[in-house]
Amino acid sequence: MTERFDVIVAGAGMVGACAALSLARCGFRVALIEPGPIHGEPYPADSSYDLRVSAISPASQQILSHLGVWSALDQSRVGHYHQMVIWHENGDANIAFDCVELGKDSLGAIVENRQILQTLLVACEKQANIEWFTPDAIEILQENSDRNLRLSLKSGVDLESELLLGADGRNSNTRTLAGIDRWGGSYDQIAIVASLVTELPHRHTAWQRFLSSGPLAFLPLANGESSIVWSCDTELAQQLLEMDDDSFCAAVGDAIEHRLGAIKSIGERLSFPLSWHACQRWLENRVLLIGDAAHGVHPLAGQGANLGFSDVDVLTKLIGALENPWDHRKLRQFERQRKSETVIATHLFTGLKWLYGSDNFIVSRLRDFGMHRVQANPWSKRLLMKQAIRNMA
Ligand SMILES: Cc1cc2nc3c(=O)[nH]c(=O)nc-3n(C[C@H](O)[C@H](O)[C@H](O)COP(=O)(O)OP(=O)(O)OC[C@H]3O[C@@H](n4cnc5c(N)ncnc54)[C@H](O)[C@@H]3O)c2cc1C
Repeated sequence: MTERFDVIVAGAGMVGACAALSLARCGFRVALIEPGPIHGEPYPADSSYDLRVSAISPASQQILSHLGVWSALDQSRVGHYHQMVIWHENGDANIAFDCVELGKDSLGAIVENRQILQTLLVACEKQANIEWFTPDAIEILQENSDRNLRLSLKSGVDLESELLLGADGRNSNTRTLAGIDRWGGSYDQIAIVASLVTELPHRHTAWQRFLSSGPLAFLPLANGESSIVWSCDTELAQQLLEMDDDSFCAAVGDAIEHRLGAIKSIGERLSFPLSWHACQRWLENRVLLIGDAAHGVHPLAGQGANLGFSDVDVLTKLIGALENPWDHRKLRQFERQRKSETVIATHLFTGLKWLYGSDNFIVSRLRDFGMHRVQANPWSKRLLMKQAIRNMA
């Protein structure tokens, strides 16, 4: 027997779960397919922090608030940052952003990925019009035409739908099944992620120092610790990963110029090879890509999940009020709108990585000159600040 849905969402990561919830709230009957365990791992309120955290922009907070998800987060574990300080290894230029300059309470929030995901999944579970298919995955896309979409799951279940959203991450199987090409490349860098305790308080400030080998970010957690994302060239990253804790803490302290004093202790270290990708098309008949399935950016600006939440927001605004979610004109409009924004973001972050990674004398003089100008000019600083935290009203 074939089950019919208005929308099928492949992938219950942060973006897929958010899309399923948002479209279900519009009244669509949604199928959510996920090969991994779907119920966000329950964890005690006093458990140690998850190493995977995200800087969530004010715009994304609004999207999650609108879905009732932001207020359902354990706020004692949400770390707001009020300032952002950026500087470079070679040069004397500093840029400091303060939320007061924008008349806002904060520039963003640092939240554990698992907290966002679990809260989204709990909200999805409460939606009677979301049906879960897990652990499961699409095996065959039998038909993807302008008339119909039919697919078979690994479990043997057959589904039909008006629209399939591929939210299954960077290595999206939906993208492959739909025959959508992507292009991209490696940054030849690895991001090392860890939580650490510093001698001095983080002062609710996000610190980012650009080293020639890549950017190092210190993100303030609600428990007073800092989460670091150190993106560096592969060879250096391997050396850093092999160091014992004391040597690694000393290396991180040097790299951040001891702005937060000594690094007193560190937990487990995780590593992620860094790459970028983009797709020429996001829509192929009735298959539409969103989130990391459609775009992949460098984590230096903390925008991947934020871009994905914006995908969901724009899509919901375009098709949420329709009888049938497959409206070719509206979906093309979505594709155009979101593709241009993410292409700009992808190239901007790749350009920043090059600009800040260059040791070339002329480039570094230009970079310092630009940073001095931005710091001295409130208008350009405000513009850059808005761009940095995306769509802040
Ligand atoms: C070091 C680092 C730091 C980052 N920091 C930030 C930050 O501060 N702010 C920010 O906004 N972003 C940040 N990002 C990016 C962010 O983590 C990603 O952009 C975001 O998690 C993408 O979410 P997604 O739901 O699109 O994809 P994913 O999180 O990859 O979820 C995909 C889902 O699809 C499922 N799936 C896989 N295969 C299939 C299949 N065949 N069928 C169905 N489902 C499938 C997976 O199990 C998973 O549940 C960072 C990334 C890195 C690496």
